[in-house]
Amino acid sequence: MQKVVVRQRGAARVRAGHAWIYRSDIFSADGIAPGATVAVSDDKGKTLGAALYSSSSQIALRMISTQKLASDELPALLRQRIAAAVRYRERVVSNTDAYRVIFSEADFLPGLIVDRYHDLLSIQVLTQAMDRAETRAVIMATFIEGLAPAAIVERVDPRIRELEQLPAQPSAVLYGEKTSTIFRMNGVRFRYQALAGQKTGAFLDQRENYAVAAHYARGEALDVFCYEGGFALHLARVCGKVTGVDSSRAALEMAEANEQLNSEAHGGNEIEWIEANAFDLLKDYSAAGRQYDAIVLDPPPFARSQRALDSALRGYKELNLRALKMLRPDGILVSCSCSYHVSEAEFVAMLAEAAADARRALRILEKRTQAKDHPTLVSVPETSYLKCIICTVS
Ligand code: SAH
Repeated sequence: MQKVVVRQRGAARVRAGHAWIYRSDIFSADGIAPGATVAVSDDKGKTLGAALYSSSSQIALRMISTQKLASDELPALLRQRIAAAVRYRERVVSNTDAYRVIFSEADFLPGLIVDRYHDLLSIQVLTQAMDRAETRAVIMATFIEGLAPAAIVERVDPRIRELEQLPAQPSAVLYGEKTSTIFRMNGVRFRYQALAGQKTGAFLDQRENYAVAAHYARGEALDVFCYEGGFALHLARVCGKVTGVDSSRAALEMAEANEQLNSEAHGGNEIEWIEANAFDLLKDYSAAGRQYDAIVLDPPPFARSQRALDSALRGYKELNLRALKMLRPDGILVSCSCSYHVSEAEFVAMLAEAAADARRALRILEKRTQAKDHPTLVSVPETSYLKCIICTVS
């Protein structure tokens, strides 16, 4: 196995448990093939473990083991890691047949994401190493044997393949034939179309938060950025009227189809779907004096980089301020951020500012995060990204 020597700063990072080594923290990678598995040591020759190499990413190495690895041991290690990830889900996931089976670094399989939707598996390959034919073969065989899916579909993000300098390739069925199915979370049914739309499917990371939101919410509810109805359809079981808002027509069509799948569980409760820009709609509705008992805000990531932090916080504040003005006394606010660059502390501080401006008192019922099938590895802070703060408003 070829060797890469890491500078002190990179070595310290690895010893602290991080998986990434930046290109500026390695001495030389001359002659190392894209996607190769390499032995990693510090500048005194001490072993740090084994890593997967990328010739194009700023993250040159992603640690796969803190032990020495022989050149033929990678397939067995991958199989072992996949089996451990499956066992972890057996312990912590319940009341759903849709969940993340592999969450990249957090499952010690950097560059690989695998989601299960009932009988379908959806995989995402994010690095040169995971794209290698022999690696793909091991992953496929392990999943076919271990989970016996009806089909395995690969969802491709063209931007990531370009960044990793991998040849363009479309999303496709890799195994089996089936490309659509129905899955269930907390008893709510959803359609899944593996090759349709731009998204990878559902927002599985909010699964536990859906159930908790429905635990607190009553009355009239507004689900802003509703996508295919994740929160709205859970709320429709307990709220007399639910309004879902999204700017994507395709997402709302799916939401409506999902509503039909669950209609028997909604009793006489009413659901409406509105195609609108959330910022405009909240402005109009709050100016018109509309009132709700529960409001969910789950916008797309506003801060994709540290530089975008200030404008992201301004965006979150505008949304939350308008929502707070529309909540009846004792109303429930479910406010989310999936931007890794916005910390929980910054997000809560933003909520406090919005509450002060709206002259409302906000009490936190729960500070929540991503569901347990998206584990947070404490030594890799990037694995923790979702904030879901549930408050009462007086
Ligand atoms: N709450 C959803 C996930 C929301 S993802 C769930 O749990 O499934 C963010 C959504 O915001 C996407 O569906 C996207 O179409 C929508 N969106 C993005 N910008 C928007 C805007 N300005 N106004 C309304 N919707 C928007």
